[in-house]
Amino acid sequence: MLGFPEDAVARLHEYQGKTLLKKQGLEIPSGMVVRSPEEAGEVFQSLQGHGAERVVLKIQAWITGRKAVGGVQFAQSVEEAEAAASVMLGMKFGHFPVQEVLVEECVAIAHELFVSLTIDDAARSPLLLLDAFGGSGIEDRAAGVARIPISVTDGVHPQSIRRVLLDSPIPEKHHEAIVTAIQQIIATAKEVEARSLEVNPLVVLEDGRVLAADCRVTIDDYAVFRHPELGIEIARELDHPATALEQVAYRVEQDDHRGTFYFAQLPIEGHEDSSGLIGFHGAGGGGSMMSMDAVSNEGFTLANFCDTSGNPSAAKVYRAARVILAQPGLAGYFGSGSGVASQEQFHSAYGLAKAFNEMNMTLPVVIRLGGNAEDRAVEILEDSCRDLPATIEGYRKDDTPAFCAQRFTSLVKDESGGNSSDQLVRSVPDWVGGDAEAFPIEGGHVWINTDACDAALTARMAEWSSGLLKDDGNGNPVLAVPEEEAAKADSEFIACEIECLRAGTPVLFVDLPIEGIDPVTNSGKDH
Ligand code: GDP
Ligand code: MN
Repeated sequence: MLGFPEDAVARLHEYQGKTLLKKQGLEIPSGMVVRSPEEAGEVFQSLQGHGAERVVLKIQAWITGRKAVGGVQFAQSVEEAEAAASVMLGMKFGHFPVQEVLVEECVAIAHELFVSLTIDDAARSPLLLLDAFGGSGIEDRAAGVARIPISVTDGVHPQSIRRVLLDSPIPEKHHEAIVTAIQQIIATAKEVEARSLEVNPLVVLEDGRVLAADCRVTIDDYAVFRHPELGIEIARELDHPATALEQVAYRVEQDDHRGTFYFAQLPIEGHEDSSGLIGFHGAGGGGSMMSMDAVSNEGFTLANFCDTSGNPSAAKVYRAARVILAQPGLAGYFGSGSGVASQEQFHSAYGLAKAFNEMNMTLPVVIRLGGNAEDRAVEILEDSCRDLPATIEGYRKDDTPAFCAQRFTSLVKDESGGNSSDQLVRSVPDWVGGDAEAFPIEGGHVWINTDACDAALTARMAEWSSGLLKDDGNGNPVLAVPEEEAAKADSEFIACEIECLRAGTPVLFVDLPIEGIDPVTNSGKDH
């Protein structure tokens, strides 16, 4: 199964990592990151001007073993550099095109070392892994790698490094330079609060200089905000540069701290041969994993991993569903959480119901809403979606993920006949805009079709909106609270919208356009 670590970390590009090492005084090969073949040619020329005869080009992607997949290539002319860059910039790993290539002087390597700093979970302390028998194939030599504890206060004892070097083929005259380099690597890791920092290889050149030839740094999510200098946009575990949709998701997460929303697109090669490409929406770490397994076992390809948990607001769950549905080629939507969530599931149900109704869902949906108030949650979801073209089913904690996944399989088989998320279009009621009543809330507007309201409905809307609306004296709903208070109540208004819909009187609409997915509207009045 796909592994998502509990603790989210951000990964830096090789070149970003090297720049940090350089700041601590460790040498790195001269070079630059380029985004086009022409730029690669230019960097070649400039490196040549500084005496380099050959350059090495390396894709800036978070994959290991780049050499084996053509991600590390050498060039001896402008033409070769351009050609290599052109091939590399056309490479794709899953959804993720290579967007950057590092062009560096090719250095004359005499010795390669593997240097890796990690946290030893058992000892709860930093650990230096060191191997002086060369860089590649380290996985096969794991047993021979020296494990040297690092003291948080005193760092690493130079003598313990020297001991490892004395056992290696590297001549003693280089040892002090290597010890210094390793101290600089440790200082870098400390400076940026790295979760891990790997230099593989650290190289000794034929002229005796010691350089970092590669670098991989991960930084704890929690530490990222203390390091704006790193320019990390997405403090999340991603093994690829963020896709456009992941960036949209990240903005949603940043703008709304009620619960967490995590979204990552997954590699989808070969999905044509699977039971179908589907959107996945988990709720709560462990439960999400089990649910992913269950639906993967049914032969589906998951287009994404998503998790909304920690008491997410209806608005956040709504936006998460919209982000999931913005992926092309989906044949269905599978949501399933831990089943024992203490959070009340109807908030999620309201958010999902809004997304499915707004998109006039044509793809089958199975959502396992196990947890507190699950009966109410299932009823909200199924009842509000009853008139949609697709079947939308809610399940409870006693329905296992495996059962829900099987149910999903049969719905997709029966219903999806050619339908895909490509055809989904967001619809906004035709009375939105124009002269209808509207007031602003954070991220959008609430619209009310007062022409269709009467005193009886208004009284119910007051209840459904948790008292945010009241009768204006003429049977029409108006705000019962100051606009500032209403502005923060997006989720209460979503609940009201869905209850109006269920009652067969869809007179309220919460317009929350998502930047990057929906057309930008300034006032909300120009629909
Ligand atoms: P990775 O395979 O993705 O970890 O990419 P690396 O940047 O570590 O490069 C892989 C291998 O390419 C290194 O272990 C070196 O053997 C070789 N290599 C990379 N840069 C140079 C260079 O400047 N000169 C020479 N001679 N070899 C290099
Ligand atoms: Mn490497």
